[in-house]
This record gives sequence, C-alpha cells and structure tokens, in this order.
Amino acid sequence: MTGAGRFALALGFALALAGAALALRPPPASQRETFYLFGTLVEVEIRGMGEGPARAALARVAAHLQALHRDWHAWRPGALSRLNAAIAAGEPQAVSAELAQVLREGRALSCASGGLFEPAIGAAVAAWGFHADTPPDGAPPGAQEIEALLAGHPRIADLMIEPGETGKAGERGEAGVVRSTNRAVRLDLGAYAKGAALDLAMADLRAAGVEHAVLNAGGGVQVMGGHGARPWRVALRDPFQWGVVAALTLAPGEALHSSGNYERYFEAGGVRFSHILDPRTARPVQGIVSVSVLAETGVLADAASTALTVAGREHWPEVAAAMGVRAVLMITDTGEMLASPEMAARLEPPAGGFPAPLTVVALPPAPQPAPACAPP
Ligand code: AMP
Ligand code: MG
Repeated sequence: MTGAGRFALALGFALALAGAALALRPPPASQRETFYLFGTLVEVEIRGMGEGPARAALARVAAHLQALHRDWHAWRPGALSRLNAAIAAGEPQAVSAELAQVLREGRALSCASGGLFEPAIGAAVAAWGFHADTPPDGAPPGAQEIEALLAGHPRIADLMIEPGETGKAGERGEAGVVRSTNRAVRLDLGAYAKGAALDLAMADLRAAGVEHAVLNAGGGVQVMGGHGARPWRVALRDPFQWGVVAALTLAPGEALHSSGNYERYFEAGGVRFSHILDPRTARPVQGIVSVSVLAETGVLADAASTALTVAGREHWPEVAAAMGVRAVLMITDTGEMLASPEMAARLEPPAGGFPAPLTVVALPPAPQPAPACAPP
C-alpha cells in the first residue's frame, strides 16, 4: 500500500531514547511479540515480568486480538459481516458481549461527534474501494451512486441493542441482540476498532498481572506503567518526509491514536482520495494530513482522531470539546501544525525544532449537558 504507515508512531525512536539513558545498567526483562492484524503490525512489549508469565500473557493477548480482528472485520466473513447481512435483510442478529459493547460505545461516540464519526457508512467506504487489502485502482463512484448512499441516511444511532442470551464462556459483559430501524446501515468499525481492541488487550494484560507494557499498532499506542524506571516515550513521524515532528511522554494508562490520509488513500486524475469520508457528503475529506489524539482510552482517542479529521481545520476544537477530548495535534496539507493547549504542553520538539511553528488553538468548554441522541 502506498505510503503505508508513514505517520505511524515511531516507537522504535522512543525506545532508542529511553534505552540510551539506561545503557550503563543491565536491561530489565522485556518480552515482545509482533503480529500482523487490523491491516497493520501490532507490537506488544511487556517489561518487568518473568519470562514464563510474560510469554503466557503475550499469547493470550495475541489470541484475543486475532479473534477481534476476525469478528470485527468490515468485509471478510465473520460476526460483523453476519450482522451487516441481517441488517440488510431487516432481521435481528445475536452478537457477542464484546461486539454489543463496541457498538454501544460507537453509538455514544458518534452522537458526541455530531455524526462526523459514523461507523454505519460502510457502504460508502466500500463504494470508494476501501474494503480491500490493496489501495483502490478504479474510478471514484459517480454522483448518482453517492446520492443513493446519502439518501439511505445510515447512522449507528439506528441500531437497537438489547440484552441477548447468555454470553460466550469466559466473556466479560452481556451478549446482545441487534436490530436496525434502517436497512442502509453497513457497519464498518475501522475508525475505532484498533483503539477498542487495544483497550481490551490492556485489560487482558492487567488481568494477567502485567504492570509495565506498551501496545503499538500502526497509528495507535497505549501504555501501562513505564519503560524501566522511566516513562514510555513516543515520537510522531513527519507525514511529509522522513523524520519526526515531535516526541511526547505517555503517562501510565494513556492512549495516543493518529488518523490521516497518509495511511490509506488512492489517487485518480491527480487527486488524492483519503479513506476517511465525510458522512455528510459520502466523499473523502480533504485538507488534513493527520490528527493525533491523546486520551484515557484507545476507543476515545481512535474515534476522535477520525472525527476531528472530518471536522477539519475550522471545526475541530468544538468537536474535540463535545467528545471530551483535550489533547489534539492536527497537521494540515499545507504543513500547518495546530495543537490544543493541553497537547502543546506535552509536545517536545525534535533536535532541529518543530518542522512548522506550533499554532495553539484554545478549546471551548465541553457542552453542558452533553448531547443525547441514542436509544439504549
Ligand atoms: P482511522 O484511520 O482510525 O481514521 O479510520 C479510518 C477508517 O474508518 C476508514 O478506513 C473507514 O473504514 C472508516 N471510516 C471512514 N470515514 C469514517 C467516518 N467518518 N466515521 C467512521 N468511520 C469512518
Ligand atoms: Mg480513528
């Protein structure tokens, strides 16, 4: 894929920084596993734990992430494609506790974003050719096809999620039965599945007694504890050229997710089409190269990074506030770097300084009361 992962979080750089400071001491125990999931390389590193328990925890996380990858896949056969087929047929569908929960979270986040994060627009994502492992090479969809997609008004708020039969053995939470009042809904969890999956993986690690770990999945990183005696540090790659735009230190439990058109796109007639669509137009967003969001959970950081890309240069501050996000960095296609005050305070420039001056943009207070739009 062209430009794949160009702005992924440069964790290697981060570990190099921390490692230099530790060079004179024996390295603390560290176990790592890398696998290919969610269209990207996923790296899990555990520190400060014996090899046996750390290997067992890594195996458990790997198996869980593989199951989520299969169950939540937007276009391969699995639990989500069965649900999409049932929705198209106007039928109810039983889902696992984890799928029910991620759909509830998606519904609440979509509501908070004012519909800019909209996981029900899978039909539009497919029409633009992004339901494939390789970048699309056909022509963009025509105006009529786009009108038809918009006329369906698919919204995740159209879902009704009721308690279902008993959940799978060992699964947390309650299984559900999902119905949609709108047959045009096609669920595509691509904008927040990685963040939600990393939250679940973190919970697995905690349950296994892990205290220090990092999960890094092309564009998303989440940490627990620290890197030896120091905190985890990560770097954000420059989306325009080889290098780094900034580094930052992550506090235990924090998640940083980046979204943008550097990752998946195609070019037709000299125009670059991003894989992030504006649900109001069913067309790719333009003008934003990347948005990085730091939050307390992966699901929020990941959903918000996509929503703020759609919100664009003018409207991201109010959408961030509405979603309850305070630390944001946006890079526009002209190379402008816009940061919320909370993010600006966390960003450290690389040796040569930031590649562009950091413009600090204040966020409005979170709206009170929070917007309410979804049924239970
Ligand atoms: P991300 O890289 O996290 O921004 O996720 C982008 C992916 O989410 C795309 O590849 C689509 O599968 C899906 N998607 C595109 N636009 C949207 C949107 N506005 N809301 C929710 N999901 C979207
Ligand atoms: Mg996202």
